[in-house]
Amino acid sequence: MTWKASAAFGADHGLPIVAEVDVAVVGGGAAGVAAAETAARQGLSVLLVERYGFCGGNAVAGLSGTICGLYAASDRNRNQPEQLVFGFADRFLQAMRSCDGVTAPVRYGKTWTVTHDPLRWRETADAFLEEPGVRVLYHCLVVGTVIEGEDVLGIVVESKAGRGAVSARIVIDASGDADVIHRAGLDFTIGQDGTVQNPTMIFRLGNVDVDRFLGYWGPDTICSPEVTEMLIAAHAAGEYHLPRAKIWIFTTPRKGELLVNATRLVGRDGRDLYPGSPEDLTEAEFVGRRQVRDYARFLRDHIPGCEESFVNDTGVQAGIRQSRSVAGAETLTNEDVLAHRKRPDGVVRSPWPIELHVGDKPKLEWLIEDYYEVPYAALLPRRGENLIVAGRCLSAEHEALASARVTAQCFGYGHAAGLAAAAALRSKRRLRDVPGAEIRDLLNADGARLD
Ligand SMILES: Cc1cc2nc3c(=O)[nH]c(=O)nc-3n(C[C@H](O)[C@H](O)[C@H](O)COP(=O)(O)OP(=O)(O)OC[C@H]3O[C@@H](n4cnc5c(N)ncnc54)[C@H](O)[C@@H]3O)c2cc1C
Repeated sequence: MTWKASAAFGADHGLPIVAEVDVAVVGGGAAGVAAAETAARQGLSVLLVERYGFCGGNAVAGLSGTICGLYAASDRNRNQPEQLVFGFADRFLQAMRSCDGVTAPVRYGKTWTVTHDPLRWRETADAFLEEPGVRVLYHCLVVGTVIEGEDVLGIVVESKAGRGAVSARIVIDASGDADVIHRAGLDFTIGQDGTVQNPTMIFRLGNVDVDRFLGYWGPDTICSPEVTEMLIAAHAAGEYHLPRAKIWIFTTPRKGELLVNATRLVGRDGRDLYPGSPEDLTEAEFVGRRQVRDYARFLRDHIPGCEESFVNDTGVQAGIRQSRSVAGAETLTNEDVLAHRKRPDGVVRSPWPIELHVGDKPKLEWLIEDYYEVPYAALLPRRGENLIVAGRCLSAEHEALASARVTAQCFGYGHAAGLAAAAALRSKRRLRDVPGAEIRDLLNADGARLD
């Protein structure tokens, strides 16, 4: 890290300046990588700050494991997935495909998804950032903002080298948790009256006889009613602790391996866990690791092909579906999703169902043969300039977010935010003064195929 003094910025704040850039991207999840790569391809100087030593966020550290949101749901077309989402999401998908980093599409109820290899994801993201010259700081946590009035001027980072400031003309909050919004004292919401979807500790099972497993489980990655009944009975008999009875299991690009999305994490005292609290996050890790062992034992004991399996790995962290959402200039509503609303200022398309993880059986509400669009203004904070969010912390009502949060759409928010940053800086406009329809045109010109 080069420590550099600056008279214009930082002196007042008493912090050494570690970088002066056009765009600072906070977080290297799906949204952050897309935003940083896009902004850099537009010729901007870009810094991406990520607390871990790799990109991927909940898709990799949280081991969420599949790229959902690419394909249409259908009641009739059960053999041929129809891809509806392109742009950055498709470019990343193709790059992963070229290194055998994703499976072919697998069935997910009425739609499809692809499972990815989290190591290949890390390498692919590194290459995407390196190629256009994004400067990356891994192992750095963003702990504050530099703000004057409502103008965000930069961010404060903490690392092994100490604390420093980054001067940025635009900050993209791709932290998933709206950390920048929070640290800047701007407005955010939390789920449904403060309650968010359950975290899940995802795990991988090794040494599985995958053919035998598939022969029993069938082509749908969502478990059958028969398996749900078995889970309920085993839980009720007290043999295992299995608080979620509708579970998802995916084959992966690796031989003999399954990815298991099964656990439901609440506190040992039964409380819902809030990911903004370190106590609750710690509780999620304790509870998650124990629950993983119970689900793995259940699978070994009851599911053909899993008899000799072992827990290969869990997520680096408990997977967090939802925490803070920015209070946006506009909010994606539940009705927008259910009505499949399209709009001229729509910048991201989503065919993904409402997939709400609460209680013992996640609720699924399908969007059949259709999609809705997310408006640009759902990425803009109601207050605060030079700042835009990308990813699952967009402004959305609770159930709408349970659809809009998945990976292909997070790639799309990053793509839109990167182009918006370039358009605003080029024309010296505030981000909120760039019309959403203009961003849509830029996205179309950049391969998003929204029209
Ligand atoms: C259990 C679970 C299962 C899921 N299953 C699927 C699925 O099968 N398919 C699918 O498509 N989606 C799934 N999702 C959703 C999907 O994984 C996420 O919504 C998506 O990855 C979010 O991307 P993001 O970039 O918005 O945020 P995140 O992935 O949360 O990325 C945020 C990044 O910012 C970094 N960061 C955060 N705060 C700071 C800070 N202060 N300083 C520096 N860095 C910071 C984090 O380390 C992280 O890398 C699942 C999610 C969970 C939790």
